[in-house]
Amino acid sequence: MFVYIYERGMIMKNIIRKSITTVIIMALALTLAMPVTAQAKGKTKIKINKTKVTLTITKKKTKPTVQLKVKGTSGKVKWTASNKNVSVSEKGKVTAKKKGTAVVKAKVNGKTLQCRVTVKDSRKPVNKPEPPKECQHVWVEKTIVEIVCECGEVFYDDNARISHNRQFVLQGLNGHSFSTNEHTYYECSKCHKTK
Ligand SMILES: [Zn+2]
Ligand SMILES: [Zn+2]
Repeated sequence: MFVYIYERGMIMKNIIRKSITTVIIMALALTLAMPVTAQAKGKTKIKINKTKVTLTITKKKTKPTVQLKVKGTSGKVKWTASNKNVSVSEKGKVTAKKKGTAVVKAKVNGKTLQCRVTVKDSRKPVNKPEPPKECQHVWVEKTIVEIVCECGEVFYDDNARISHNRQFVLQGLNGHSFSTNEHTYYECSKCHKTK
């Protein structure tokens, strides 16, 4: 009788032990499986907050910015810009510099994410005063007739010479004799410069 009870006790103990072991194994399996699935989910969730963005430089805002962020990871992100149209800070803040496009890259956990940045400039180009245009001279040949009186006076108009001479004739004096000189010169028909 005693043996029987003893044996039954042993059987019960074994059943309990087996059950406990099963429970422990199941619990272990669950705890091992959980972080794996969480990690797997986390990997697919690594995302950049913007993949395409346009920044417009205006008179008031000459350095527009946008904050880029990588979601789904706590890893250190390395930010780089493909050219000098934009700059990017260590924390992913993008600043527009010059009209054009650039690709901002974020490297994290061996993965590279991109954001294409377009920089527009709404400022009107500064109007530089145009240099004074040089005249494209159009030279026209001109002839001037100089009437040189014997007294030394020079007239450019025969009427002036005649009235000059009249005063001597009226006084009963001899009229002054004269000679003519012809000068040829060139005058620009546009700016009236002569040569
Ligand atoms: Zn001219
Ligand atoms: Zn004279």
